[in-house]
Amino acid sequence: LPGRLYLLDKESNFVVEACSWLGPVRSSPRFSAMSCWALRRGLRHRPAGDTIDVPCDHIDWNPEVPTDSLCLPLMAQRETLGMLYFEMPGDDTGRAATPMIYFDMLAENIGLAVANLQLRDSLREMAMADPLTGLANRRQLSHVLETQVAQAERDGVGLSCLMVDVDHFKRFNDAHGHEAGDAVLRSVGRVLAQATREPDLAFRYGGEEFLLLFPGLSAEQAVDRAQDIRSRVAAIELGHAVGDLGHISVSVGVAVAPQHCDFSRLIPTADAALLRAKALGRDRIEVAQPREAEAGRPAA
Ligand code: GH3
Ligand code: MG
Ligand code: MG
Repeated sequence: LPGRLYLLDKESNFVVEACSWLGPVRSSPRFSAMSCWALRRGLRHRPAGDTIDVPCDHIDWNPEVPTDSLCLPLMAQRETLGMLYFEMPGDDTGRAATPMIYFDMLAENIGLAVANLQLRDSLREMAMADPLTGLANRRQLSHVLETQVAQAERDGVGLSCLMVDVDHFKRFNDAHGHEAGDAVLRSVGRVLAQATREPDLAFRYGGEEFLLLFPGLSAEQAVDRAQDIRSRVAAIELGHAVGDLGHISVSVGVAVAPQHCDFSRLIPTADAALLRAKALGRDRIEVAQPREAEAGRPAA
């Protein structure tokens, strides 16, 4: 039977084709969930079957050509996930005699499978993304860094790392509350997302620290990117939502492997440069020096 699997987009309340088979012709690939009786009632809908019923609006209905369609809602844990659609043969013989319970079981199984896949996706996203800024989190960094290092070594190119830390961040929390601190982190996160694009990578490293990776950039280019980020952060205005928060600045440590350090020392080396930027008065960029490649982060 020609058919289509639709998934519900909860935001728009439209169902959208996920896949189709044997070329269904009578139902559009995307439509409002409200135009399907199976989705509205949460029940199988076959207007031309044993019980004559109103056809759905998403079906191209022609009274001259009898149409036998079947819509089955996909549900799991009382939630609607989508719809399974079939076009039955017009002559009502042979395969049309397939018992309806078979279709119900099919829809039930597919509904559970879709729910499992969606749950797995959202768990993966929760495990990998930082909920406050939407940037990748530190857990993801450990996966990604390994791949990036292997790729840079294979291609014989450098890998630049920027460690970015918001200056005197604690003051935002102390003076304006944790909500205001969160607003600062969100806006810095947004700036970093805007300032990076494929193949660059941005992570929230922890608290008010962010880590950026730029595959293939020279030290000079990495410093240019750090400058760009510093000025974008300085331009952030957070006046309206939470009271005047004043000026936000960041300190940045830059390290490039293999120029400044071994690939395996990239993060501690960038961190050491960041500590120097802090010690020198903050709101500045410091590039790694050879001796910093050997120094680690002091024990917390
Ligand atoms: P410095 O210029 O030396 O970096 O000073 P700082 O105040 O930025 O650094 P410090 O490490 O002393 O303070 C960081 C603070 O960040 C302490 C912690 O309570 C706060 N913080 C960590 N994570 C979050 C968060 O998710 N939201 C908010 N609002 N605050 C956070
Ligand atoms: Mg800080
Ligand atoms: Mg810090």
